[in-house]
Amino acid sequence: MRGVWGLPLDQGNLGPMERILLSALIFTGMVFGLWPMAVRAAETDFSAWLTEFRLEARAAGIRDDVVDRVLAGVRPIDKIVELDRRQPEFVDTFWQYVGTRVTPARVEQGRAHLQRHRELLQAVERRYQVQAAVLVSFWGLETDFGGNTGQFRAADALATLAYDGRRGPFFREQLLALLHLVQAGDVPPDARASWAGALGQMQFMPTTYRAYAVDFDGDGRRDLWHSMPDVFASAANYLAAIGWDGARNWGEEVRLPADFDYYLAGPDVEMPIDSWRDLGVTRASGAALAGTAGRASIILPGGVEAGPALLVTSNFRVIMGWNRAINYAVTVGHLADRIGGRGPFVTPRGGDVAGLSRTDVAEMQTLLGRLGFDTGEADGVVGSRTRDAIRDFQRAATLPADGFPTSGLLDRLRVAAKE
Ligand code: CA
Repeated sequence: MRGVWGLPLDQGNLGPMERILLSALIFTGMVFGLWPMAVRAAETDFSAWLTEFRLEARAAGIRDDVVDRVLAGVRPIDKIVELDRRQPEFVDTFWQYVGTRVTPARVEQGRAHLQRHRELLQAVERRYQVQAAVLVSFWGLETDFGGNTGQFRAADALATLAYDGRRGPFFREQLLALLHLVQAGDVPPDARASWAGALGQMQFMPTTYRAYAVDFDGDGRRDLWHSMPDVFASAANYLAAIGWDGARNWGEEVRLPADFDYYLAGPDVEMPIDSWRDLGVTRASGAALAGTAGRASIILPGGVEAGPALLVTSNFRVIMGWNRAINYAVTVGHLADRIGGRGPFVTPRGGDVAGLSRTDVAEMQTLLGRLGFDTGEADGVVGSRTRDAIRDFQRAATLPADGFPTSGLLDRLRVAAKE
């Protein structure tokens, strides 16, 4: 048997000292020989990948000088791959998520910006039918009103994620869109971005930028870093294009009747507002629900015990088209309300707000499975199958079936699984 560099690896007829020397030699070889070789191989792979990508860019109509300027010195960044793969053990609870983003200071700043940019925001609202406070809310959440637009070179971030492969084709398309934006003169070749390649004060991905950004100040460039007219109009144009209805709000806090069927909660169940009224749903104040037009869903972002109940409209779905997380969408809507002058949620922050770790959720999934409620893989992530399984268990245990994982529920499952 021959190993690296043809050395015999059958150590059967070697003495003890020779074995130690051989092991040391192999170890040294791995450290000083193979490791740099592996690094060089990775560099070669990346440069081969880049060569191939350059050809694709040229075939897509990007000029060589643009490709050269954007991709000059481009390199994969380990930190970005790490950020892309992180799976936090603890995910923010609803109240933690909202509480860190809708702070009194941010509400104040938002109100000040609403005043400062009033005329511009009114012009944008007239043109695109998206409410001013909603635009200021997105702006505040995406980049803290333009204060944090990202520190990575966009080309590095996008090339890293395109090359890495976990979501390779998506980011390859984004990198190509970045080249188009530079060629069109909208974006500078050395533009900065978030680690995920989001651009400008509204954090548009390059394909979104390309398709929806607007030159609202008419200077010939769509500049989402330095032109507030372009920033607000682009966000409004995008929201309008994906279905924003300027005649409606995003949703509101409501009060549910005592006999509410929690199987009706969730973004998948949409009913006319009249039907919700007939079921006994009222505004948080107890007054009758306003309006009859349009359909809406009831969502419980913090669960029955700990969070508000919200009646959300088609605009809520539009916000989820911007960012798929329910907590994000609620936060955009709530911050817009606060900036527009409304107060905090009526439901107090309290109850069971202890977040479940991934390990806890995985245990919950295993216990549910053992009790006959199938969650699929016990991966520690709460998806729709896990929510359905929790609901079925809650119904069997005559609990409100909100499908929401809490530490109290985990305790119950531990007891039930022992019986
Ligand atoms: Ca412009």
